[in-house]
Amino acid sequence: MKFEVRVSFAYLILATLWIILSDALLAAIPIPALVNTLQTYKGALFVMVTALLLFVLLRWELSLRRHSEQAVQRSESNFRYLFINNPLPMWVYDLETLRFLDVNAAATQQYGYSREEFLSMRILDIRPQEDVPRLLEQLKAERPPLQQSGLWRHRYRDGTIIDVEITSHQLDFAGRPAALVVAQNMTERVKAQTALHESNALLNAIINAAPLAIFRFDTNGVIQMCNPAAETIFGWSAAEMLGRRPPFVPPHLTEEFVGLLRRSLTGEPFVGYQTTRQRKDGTMIDVAVSAASLPDAQSVVSVVADITEVKQMEAERLENERLHLALNKEVELRNLRGRFMSMVSHEFRNPLAIIASSNSMLERYYDRMQPAGRAEHFATIDTQVKRLTELLDDILTILRLESIGPDFKPTALDLVELSSRLASEMRLQTQNARQIEFSSPISQAPIQGDAKMLRHAIGNLLSNAVKYSPPQSTVQLEIGTQDDQFVVRVKDQGIGIPPENLTRLFEPFYRADNVGDIPGSGLGLAITRQAAELHGGRLVVDSVVGVGSTFTIYLPGNTTTAAK
Ligand code: ADP
Repeated sequence: MKFEVRVSFAYLILATLWIILSDALLAAIPIPALVNTLQTYKGALFVMVTALLLFVLLRWELSLRRHSEQAVQRSESNFRYLFINNPLPMWVYDLETLRFLDVNAAATQQYGYSREEFLSMRILDIRPQEDVPRLLEQLKAERPPLQQSGLWRHRYRDGTIIDVEITSHQLDFAGRPAALVVAQNMTERVKAQTALHESNALLNAIINAAPLAIFRFDTNGVIQMCNPAAETIFGWSAAEMLGRRPPFVPPHLTEEFVGLLRRSLTGEPFVGYQTTRQRKDGTMIDVAVSAASLPDAQSVVSVVADITEVKQMEAERLENERLHLALNKEVELRNLRGRFMSMVSHEFRNPLAIIASSNSMLERYYDRMQPAGRAEHFATIDTQVKRLTELLDDILTILRLESIGPDFKPTALDLVELSSRLASEMRLQTQNARQIEFSSPISQAPIQGDAKMLRHAIGNLLSNAVKYSPPQSTVQLEIGTQDDQFVVRVKDQGIGIPPENLTRLFEPFYRADNVGDIPGSGLGLAITRQAAELHGGRLVVDSVVGVGSTFTIYLPGNTTTAAK
C-alpha cells in the first residue's frame, strides 16, 4: 500500500475515533453549557492538530521533492560534464535534419571545427564524399536504441581521412529525436591490421610459391601445416600429411627426426642438415633440412630442400675431378718416363762411352803409354764410375722415397757443424780458384734431423752451385735464423735459372733450359725438397739468369737455444 494511502487511512481512523470518543465523553457531562464550550474547544483543538499534521506532512513532502530535484540536477550536470570532457569525440545530432545539436571538446579539437562551425553542419559534412550514399542508406534503416555502426571514415577539417568506430544512442534532445554519437579513432589499429594482413598475404604467397617444402610441426612432430612444394617433393597430398607424423621419414631415421625436433624446440635452430627421406612411391631422396622453433616454443617451422640432383651433380663433379686428376697423373707419369728415358740415355751413355774409350785406349796402348797417361785414363774411368754411382744413388733414393716412403731417422744434431764440414769437404773436392765461403752468425743450430738426408740435401745445393757457376766465382753457404726457423742458404754467381723453369724445378728429372752440356739428372732438387719437407721445413729458390741463384732451406727448430 502506498505511503499517502496509509497516512490518509490512519488519519481517517484516528479522527473518527477522536470524534466518537470525545463526543461520547462530552455526552457524559451533565452541564449543557459546559458541553457547548468544550465542544468549541474540541473543534478548535481538532483543527489545530489537523493543521499541524498537514504542515509537517507538506514540509516533509516538499523537502523530499527538493532533494530529488537536486539529485536530478546533479546527475544531469555530471552527465553533461562527462559529455563535454569525454576524451572521445562525441556529438548529438538531429535524426531528421541530420544537423549537429551539440559537440564535445574532444570532437572540436580532433576534427578542427569550432563548436559554432559544427552546429552549422550536418553529419554528412564530416564524411568523404564517396561515403555519403552509404551513410544515407544506413540512416534510412530501422535502428535499435543503442547501435554499433562499425567502421566508418571521417574527414577532418584539414582533409585528413581517418577510420572511426561509431557507437550511437537514440535520445530525445530538447524535444527532438536525436542520437548521441561516440567516434573512436581506429586509424592506427586499421593500419596495423592492414599491415598484418599484407604481411600475412606476403608470407602465404612465399610459402605457396616456394620450391622448398615448408612444414609446421607441433611439439609431438605432428604436421600442422605444409605447402604445395611439400606435396610435390614427397608425393603425399596435404590431406594425407596434415594431422599425422611425417610419413616421409624412413623408420630407421625416426629417432633422428625426433632429435632434430627437440633440438629446434629447445631454441637451437639448425641450417642445411643433410639426411634422407622417402617419397610416397618408395624412392629415397637426399634432403637438406633447416628448422627453427616459433616464439611460443609450441611448434617448429622446417624448410626442406630436395638436394638429390645437387648431390648427384656433386658426385659427378667429384668423379670428373678424379678422372681429370688420374688423367693428369697419367700424363705426368708419361712425361716423367720421357724425361727419365732421355736422362738415362744421355747421362748413362756419356760416362759409359768415356769409360769404354779409356778402357780401349788402355787395352790397345797400355804398353806404349807413359805411366802418367795410364794414370789419367784410370782416373777418368774412376770419375765416370763415381758419376754413374751417384746417378744410380739419386735414382734409387727418389724411387725409394716415392714407392716405400722415406727412411727418416731424426736425431739431435747441430746444423752449423754439419754445414761447415760439408763446406770443407766441397772445398777439397773442387779444384780451381773457386771460393766456398761458410758463414754463420750463430755458433750452434740444434735441431732434430736425419743427418744423412740433410748432408745429401745441403751437399746437393753446394754441388749444384759449383756445377752451374764459373770456376772463378764464389759460392756462399750461410746458416742463420729467421722467424723462429733455422735457415740454410746457398748462394752462387752462376748461370741462374730462367723464370719459366722455376715452377717445375723441384720435379724429378726436370732440368732448366739453360743447362747446355752441364751434366745432371734433374733429381737432386727433388730429393732436397723432400728432405726439407720431411723435416717440417721447405725449400725456396730465388734466381736471376746470368746473375746467380739462391737456394734456401727453412727448418723448424728451437731457435732460442741457438748459441750466438
Ligand atoms: P741436376 O743438377 O742433376 O740437373 P737438380 O735436381 O739438382 O738436378 O737440379 C735441377 C735443375 O735445376 C738443374 O738441371 C738446373 O737446371 C737447375 N739448377 C739447380 N741448381 C742450380 C744453380 N745453382 N744454378 C743454376 N741452375 C740450377
